[in-house]
Order: sequence, then C-alpha cells, then structure tokens
Amino acid sequence: MAYKELDHEKLGEFQDFDEHKKVIRIADEKAGLTAFIAVHNTNLGPALGGCRMFGYKSEDEAIRDVLRLSRGMTYKNAMAGLPLGGGKSVIIGNPYTDKTQEMMRSMGCAIESLGGEYITAEDSGTGEKDMQAIAQETSYVVGLPDGKEGHIGGDPSPMTAYGVYCGMKAAAMRRYGKDSLEGLTVAIQGLGAVGYGLCGLLHKAGVNLVATDVRGEVVSKAKKDFPGIVIVPTNDIFSVEANIFSPCALGAQLNDSTIPQFHFDIIAGAANNQCAAAKHHRILADRGILYVPDYVLNAGGVISAAYEYFFRSGDNPFRCELSRDSMVAHVERIGSTLTKVFNIADAKGVTPAQAADEMAEGRFSSNGGASRKSQSSAG
Ligand code: NAD
Repeated sequence: MAYKELDHEKLGEFQDFDEHKKVIRIADEKAGLTAFIAVHNTNLGPALGGCRMFGYKSEDEAIRDVLRLSRGMTYKNAMAGLPLGGGKSVIIGNPYTDKTQEMMRSMGCAIESLGGEYITAEDSGTGEKDMQAIAQETSYVVGLPDGKEGHIGGDPSPMTAYGVYCGMKAAAMRRYGKDSLEGLTVAIQGLGAVGYGLCGLLHKAGVNLVATDVRGEVVSKAKKDFPGIVIVPTNDIFSVEANIFSPCALGAQLNDSTIPQFHFDIIAGAANNQCAAAKHHRILADRGILYVPDYVLNAGGVISAAYEYFFRSGDNPFRCELSRDSMVAHVERIGSTLTKVFNIADAKGVTPAQAADEMAEGRFSSNGGASRKSQSSAG
C-alpha cells in the first residue's frame, strides 16, 4: 500500500483546487484500491465527509470530484453549525462489480493513517456495510448501524429528508407567509433514499405530490404508499404546475434548458450542486423563484453523522446532551438558518446562494474573510 500527498503545483492545475489543506493518493494493488482523500479546511474541526465510489474514467476526473466535494463539505458543515471541517474521499471503481471487503478495509487503513484529520461516512456508491468494513481498521468512520432504539446516526438519509422538509417550511413561510405546507403542491425528482422519505413527510403534512423516477419499481411502490400522488415522465417534471420543485436525484438540474420551463415559486431539494452554473442562481432570482441553497438544506444527514461521531468518541462539543432528541432539534434548526440566509440576501441584494457562501466563509475562514473560490460560483 502506498500513500502519496499530491503537491500544490499539480493540484493548482485543477479549477476546483482551493488551497486544500491536503490531498492524498492511495494505491493498494493487492486490495484493488485506487482512491483519493481530500481535506479542504479544518479551521472548525476535523474534516467530515463521505466516501464516494464511482467508475471515474481517469484519476484526474476523480481528483476533480474530490476537490469539489471536499470544499462543499466545508461550507455545509460550517452552515450546519458543526465544529467540523470539510473533507471527502473517492474510490475509483464500479460500486456494483468492483467492490470488496478487502478494498474497504484498505481504505480504513488509509483513513487511520491521517490520525483523525478526516472522518468518513457513506456517500453515493457506499453504504453501512462498507462503513462496517472500514471500522475494522479505524474509529474515524460514522454511518454505522446500531439497531438500538434511540440510536444516533446510521443511515443519514432519513435525517436528510427531515432537514429538507424543515427547510421547505421555512421557504414557504418566506414566500407565502405561512408555516404550513398543507395544500401546496410539491414536485419531486427522484424517489430514492431521500426523495421517498421526503414524500412520506409531505404526504403526512397534506401536501399534493407530483413525482418522477427512472425506476419503475419505486414508482409502483410510491403509488401504493402515497394515494393521490401524480407520477409524470422524467422529462415532464420541469414543466409541471407546482409551488415547490424538489430535485432529489442528480446535480445540475437547474440549467439553461430546464429553467425556462419552470412554473415554480420555490426550489428546495436534496441534490448537491443543483445549479449547472453560477449564473443560474441569478436567473432564478430574477424570475422571482426562491432558490434554497442546497448545502444548507441537505445538511440533516451530516448533522446525524456528526452526532454519531461525537457520541462514540465521547467528545461532546455541544452544550446539550448528545441524544437523538438533541440531534433532531439540531436538524430542525436548518429552518432558522435558512431564514437568516434569506434575510441577508434581501438586505444585501444578493442571491440566497451568495448569502449562504458569505455566511459560511465568515464561519470557517481563519481570517473571517472569503475563501479563494466561493461555493456557489462552482455551479
Ligand atoms: P438515491 O440514489 O437513493 O436516489 C436517487 C433517485 O433518483 C433514485 O431513485 C434514482 O432512480 C433517481 N433518478 C436518477 N436519475 C433520475 C432522473 N433523471 N429522473 C428522475 N429520477 C432519477 O440517492 P439519495 O441518497 O436519495 O440522494 C438524492 C440526492 O441527494 C443525491 O444527489 C445525493 O447526492 C443528495 N444527498 C443525499 C444525502 C443523503 O443523506 N442520502 C445527503 C445530502 C445530499
């Protein structure tokens, strides 16, 4: 196994390099592992961010992704009010055909070698089982199953869905002056772990649901579980009449071809990097559409992961007791954080995304100033 820290000269070739603290290349031929760990910023605490496994076509593509994702985690953790920095890891390979226990354990050894500077968790292409394999080699891992009632942590998706729900309520309050979503129509793209959970919460709250997914089985299940849900073909989700559009599938869904089709007042979804380019934040604002900054809204999962980490490490940085109730209350504060973001955006005449970036940079920058590259300018 070999670990190599990439030098800043090489990293400077990448547009997404933002003076990251450290980027490590991991190569373990025996375990079939090629991976990168990026630590973007640790001013607020150790870097927490998931481990993604994806069939990147080249190492440069994987480096680009890990640089972008780790910086995003610095912003997300800062805005979630967590004493944590931003980091991320990526494994090159197909998660369905290339993954082995040995590979994940080797990843655990690499994480352990950083001595706690980086803490990992599930991300796209990895799950609880992988975190269990990593945990055989290091304690710097969260998202582990427990099974006990009142357990903090585990699969982050339900808390992500709950945070999106709380943030939607804050956005509806802003737009319509009412704290309830009842009677509104929400269009959801993607009925996966987060989108499906969100549908459940919205259905219970008396919201009219319109949804789409590429997977037939999940659509059939949704029709049974949520009577009255309207299912549309995937390309039609952008043009339905709804109060809120919730992208919960892929990034870059707010772009030159989709925005002109919108009949929405609010965009509030779980997907990361929803705007294809920085200009789309302004285009949405000019059209009077309230865009809820993605990394503020979808922080429920990382809040759950952070509580799990602090609970297990015995190091409680909060004034409250570490319990499931205090963790859920922390997720609910996503709503009040968003209200602050909207107020600042209005007062300064900037988009909510810019307001969120500035707030986050004020929290994590050692000099209280701006990062070299802001998050929303990354698209
Ligand atoms: P998931 O993979 O479980 O679900 C995604 C769903 O989108 C799947 O059901 C998939 O079939 C569907 N989909 C894919 N392409 C589609 C298309 N073109 N049109 C409609 N549906 C399509 O993922 P998830 O965990 O639910 O996460 C959803 C999004 O939220 C992702 O972008 C993820 O990065 C982001 N996110 C997730 C979490 C979390 O806790 N899971 C936290 C923060 C952000």
